[in-house]
Amino acid sequence: MRLLCLLLLAAAMPAADIYYLLWFDTEDYVEPTSDDAALRIAQDLEKMGVRATFKIVGEKARVLEKRGRTDVIRALSQHDIGYHAENHSIPPPPAMYMKHLGMIEGAQEFERREGQGVRDIERIFGVTPSCYGQPGSSWGPQSTIGLRRLGIPAYMDEASQVGFENQPFWYGGILHVFRLGMFNMRADINDEAKLGEATAKFDAAVAGLNKRGGGVIHTYYHPTEFVATEFWDGVNFPRGRYTAPADYKPPRLRTRESSEKTYRILLRFVEHIKRTPGVRIITARQLTQIFEPAIVPVDREAAQRQLRQSIDAMGPHSAADLLIATLGLPPQYADGPTQRKESTYSAAQIVRGLFERGRRDAIGYIERFHRLPSHVWFGSEFLSLADFTATLAHDDGASIQVEVKKGTLAFERHIATDARRSFDWAIHPETFEAPELLELGRLQAWTLKPAKLK
Ligand SMILES: [Zn+2]
Repeated sequence: MRLLCLLLLAAAMPAADIYYLLWFDTEDYVEPTSDDAALRIAQDLEKMGVRATFKIVGEKARVLEKRGRTDVIRALSQHDIGYHAENHSIPPPPAMYMKHLGMIEGAQEFERREGQGVRDIERIFGVTPSCYGQPGSSWGPQSTIGLRRLGIPAYMDEASQVGFENQPFWYGGILHVFRLGMFNMRADINDEAKLGEATAKFDAAVAGLNKRGGGVIHTYYHPTEFVATEFWDGVNFPRGRYTAPADYKPPRLRTRESSEKTYRILLRFVEHIKRTPGVRIITARQLTQIFEPAIVPVDREAAQRQLRQSIDAMGPHSAADLLIATLGLPPQYADGPTQRKESTYSAAQIVRGLFERGRRDAIGYIERFHRLPSHVWFGSEFLSLADFTATLAHDDGASIQVEVKKGTLAFERHIATDARRSFDWAIHPETFEAPELLELGRLQAWTLKPAKLK
């Protein structure tokens, strides 16, 4: 009887939810046979009953239209459509132009430079892209504000600049599937003998996520990889070189036999995933349905306690969420500050009346700009946002003098520190590095928190 009860209990217990995303950066506007590759993949997957996400470059969408490839457009439309930048590799790519701009100007410039491709995809495919991912490693935190303005709710890619325990997260008000580490995987499409290795790795990832209570795995390819042996942009835009369209050179192509092998490996890999119990294959457009909303109300005292211990994310709350709650504001999203300031306030204490004035000022700033202030004024001196947060967290709300505290921003550990390697990409100039973008990324990490599955 006892055993039966246990068995019934086990049967009734829902298995951990494991979601799988298969996506294709559809970017090669130089080599026409890459259009056929996109068509073939889209049709093969459709026959299998698998829906993938095709992140399309703006110029690629326009080229498909110009070449009259309505067959490709129609086949891709059976899947989900994301966005992969306006022209991908024509210099300057996003990290290059955003590196020289701050948060606000960088977001405006991102929207100006990348907006046309979004409008063209809307016109050609009839949908607003479900997600964005940068070309190569050409990342900048300003893109999150730009994407919100362009109506794109998710960021899906793999690069090293920001992450949260190898699972999806919220950052800059955008749902990210990014830096999944061991949960990012692919089968080597050049070697059928390695397929077993890839499926075993997938099974291990599923087992790992089952232990964690669920999660997300993803795989990405480029249709062009299935017809070419080198990247179209590596040929035409290596290390920052500009090539005029009239001078574009095609990449070296695979033989027909080699191409057939790549399609076969992809399908066998996806078959394995499709057969794996408990795994649901979804598209980027479904991401917002499987995760809890970004803003979850938090108890004010619990928020203050966390900030007193460490200025860090707590459960589904970012450090910004906790600061907003500690200030007594209703739950709401605010961007991170635009700059890092050192406190100029020199005394050890702030008299209650002046402290309250500064607190109200911080509230006014957040309400007006939907952004955290980089510093908070107390008379003619100010505290950095970190020191203000620590001071506020330790304040009992009644003492005549408020003790000034130093704040350390624990959440910054989630941002990469190697400004060279993080941006290493065959299309960026050899010497390119962007410490400025990582610094803005750290400031924006006030908004970082794990995304919780429903
Ligand atoms: Zn790409």
